[in-house]
Amino acid sequence: MKDESNKPVGLERVKKWLYAKGLAERSSGCVLCGSCYGHGPANPMEDIPGPKTKCPPYEFYRFQRHTPKSRWLMAQRVFHGLDPITPELKEVIYSCTNCLMCQELCGVRDDGYGPWDITVAMREEITKKEGPIEAHRHLYQGLQQHDNPWSQPKSARGAWADGLGLLKLGDKAATTLLFAGCSADQATGRSSAVALARLMQKAGEEFTILGDEEKCCGLYAFDLGFRDEYERLRQNNLATLANAGIRKVVVACGSCQRIWREYAKVAGADFEVMHGVEYIDQAVLLDRLKFTKQIRKKVTYHDSCHLGRGCGVYQAPRSILRAIPGIELVEMERNQRWAWCCGGGGGVPEADPDLARWSAVDRMREAKETGAELVLTSSALCQRSFAALQQTALPTQDLLEFVCQAL
Ligand code: SF4
Ligand code: SF4
Repeated sequence: MKDESNKPVGLERVKKWLYAKGLAERSSGCVLCGSCYGHGPANPMEDIPGPKTKCPPYEFYRFQRHTPKSRWLMAQRVFHGLDPITPELKEVIYSCTNCLMCQELCGVRDDGYGPWDITVAMREEITKKEGPIEAHRHLYQGLQQHDNPWSQPKSARGAWADGLGLLKLGDKAATTLLFAGCSADQATGRSSAVALARLMQKAGEEFTILGDEEKCCGLYAFDLGFRDEYERLRQNNLATLANAGIRKVVVACGSCQRIWREYAKVAGADFEVMHGVEYIDQAVLLDRLKFTKQIRKKVTYHDSCHLGRGCGVYQAPRSILRAIPGIELVEMERNQRWAWCCGGGGGVPEADPDLARWSAVDRMREAKETGAELVLTSSALCQRSFAALQQTALPTQDLLEFVCQAL
């Protein structure tokens, strides 16, 4: 019989999980508390009760296997060699919208890792063993062949800036870069990049763009588990910055912002990263921008999961809106840290479109309940989700584009 006398038990065993750091060990550690999906307090260790609805796929399917907890436990069995990768496992792993709510709620780790990291690690493992799933293959190929998930030819990148008279990297030495994001050359993402450029010009900032040399930040590669592609893009982007002597990156899309913050952590933070809303908020405080025109409108702000829970940017968009005369800002019931996901992340619109749409419809229902006339967002992915709802949705606009009217 195997001698088990030295095996840690009880709390010791749990502690071993809690403080595990390696990738394989990261797949252990859930203590089955249920905080990441249950309808009780968000986290029993906190005073704030938090939301009743937490994980979008669980709320949609209402099956235990779709909870963050189950993703963790299922992945744990695969990492420990107990279960194979099955179609059922993949269905669950790829229904995660990457909303980061479980990361916010799960209190068992002290190293910054959480249930969502397990999902991403499992996606990396699946890609390594089997390649991307069919629904994500075109995104993978787009990144490999064109450096963007939408397979836009490299020569067509940067078209969003036509006619704006912006400097391109190499035209003149400037230490600030406006990073537009791949969505800037798509209909639903263009407005934020154009508006940010106009606002930065107005604030007197000297900055450059990458134009047709811009590559994806790597968001899709990171979140869908294409680790090699992510590393390639990260290294390319960091080399571009270093060669150009860039000290500050201002990002137009809330989802790109999350990845640029990742870069800054790894690169030792030798450049500053800020989202356009943070830049504008600062410019208003420093009197470099002034909102002089009145806009009489009742609006609500949808916190993007990546800019909100991913980067902790909650106050800047709200203080910009408070600085505009005439604006009435009304909050949705689930806001800031507890904001509901639009369903647009994690490759879910491609892998599980019914779930993605359901999540966006639920968010729009909540927006309508505020009585607002307009929903403002700060991420191209959220813009895309709401635009897909068409006539059933309230009008939606990028926050940066909206504030241009008040200059
Ligand atoms: S990131 Fe969001 S969708 Fe994914 S498991 Fe966590 S709570 Fe669920
Ligand atoms: S993943 Fe975290 S929050 Fe969810 S049940 Fe496990 S320990 Fe609790």
